[in-house]
Amino acid sequence: MEMYDVTIIGGGTTGLYAAFYSGMRGLKTKVIEDQPETGGKVSFFYPEKQIYDVGGFPGISGEELAANVEKQAQSTSPALVTGVKVQSLQKQEDGAFLLVTNDGGSHYTRTVLIASGLGTFQMQPLQVDGAAAYEGRQIHYTVKNKEKYKGLKTAVVSNNRVGIDWSLALEGTADEVTLINRNNAFRAVYEKDEENLQASSVHVQYNRTIQRVKEEGGRMTGVILSDGTEIPLDHLLVYEGLQMEKSVYEEWGVHTDKGRIPVETDMCTNIPGVFAAGDAVVYPSKTMLIASGFNEAMAAINSAATYLDPEAKSQVYSTVIYKYTDH
Ligand SMILES: Cc1cc2nc3c(=O)[nH]c(=O)nc-3n(C[C@H](O)[C@H](O)[C@H](O)COP(=O)(O)OP(=O)(O)OC[C@H]3O[C@@H](n4cnc5c(N)ncnc54)[C@H](O)[C@@H]3O)c2cc1C
Repeated sequence: MEMYDVTIIGGGTTGLYAAFYSGMRGLKTKVIEDQPETGGKVSFFYPEKQIYDVGGFPGISGEELAANVEKQAQSTSPALVTGVKVQSLQKQEDGAFLLVTNDGGSHYTRTVLIASGLGTFQMQPLQVDGAAAYEGRQIHYTVKNKEKYKGLKTAVVSNNRVGIDWSLALEGTADEVTLINRNNAFRAVYEKDEENLQASSVHVQYNRTIQRVKEEGGRMTGVILSDGTEIPLDHLLVYEGLQMEKSVYEEWGVHTDKGRIPVETDMCTNIPGVFAAGDAVVYPSKTMLIASGFNEAMAAINSAATYLDPEAKSQVYSTVIYKYTDH
């Protein structure tokens, strides 16, 4: 049974930054993330978009920011467990916590930091016979590494603003971009999105669905739409909505307010030794932003450090800690 000082539930930007900070404070740290990859909402929803409101970055793509935060976390070597979900949290007689994950794993820890946002999310899979065989190779559920589409025929299937975002992000990189919308309009759009789409070279196919995937020699070569139109393709991106599963904090004994965890500036929950940060928490004037999560992560880890050792400093400076190293 390996015991950790801090175990962080959720490897989004808040959880990853907390992992870095925890490691920097010399705490033995583990992160457990449900998705196969870290980065949370930033990686999942908008990796291709520029983010302008994180201090120190006049503009950075979601993909790059998530990669940077993971790199920063890795610099302090936390244990990183991905693709598993924390299902239960229980305080043991010795005051430590047992977290049980959906693969049957048991994780022991002296403190817990809940950085699990509003829960877990999975993309709705494309419901077309035979399509699953191309997932990961030619069918994708997020736009990462835009360069891989360079000069290639690409289509996006979506009736949502996300589909417009992805198509515009790929315009100019992919050879041709087709956007397939099963309805006659897009959902959740702003006027500006539609103007941008109209001004672009993206071909939009309204009121059509994908009926069939065309295949040759084990590769998808195109799709056939419901009106018989054939679209030759190298890659297909799919955003058909999300399946969200809310976190069951109350079942863990953690108090909530409308699904989020009420905290004060020390990021303590109602259970001593359990802290929370990021989109998971609520307090007066809380903002659900990346930078707020970073600040809360730092406060939560400082609280965990003093919970573990009342003599520990309430805060530290990286410039002092790393003074004599080439970190
Ligand atoms: C479309 C959109 C645009 C945005 N634009 C901006 C912007 O421009 N600037 C800005 O600052 N913010 C923006 N935000 C908000 C920002 O993305 C969030 O505030 C931030 O991502 C929250 O990070 P987090 O780590 O707290 O939560 P999340 O990113 O939600 O990460 C939580 C992680 O926990 C995991 N998890 C959940 N439950 C479990 C469990 N039981 N076990 C294991 N893992 C679990 C999830 O899989 C997830 O990876 C935007 C949000 C959206 C949706």
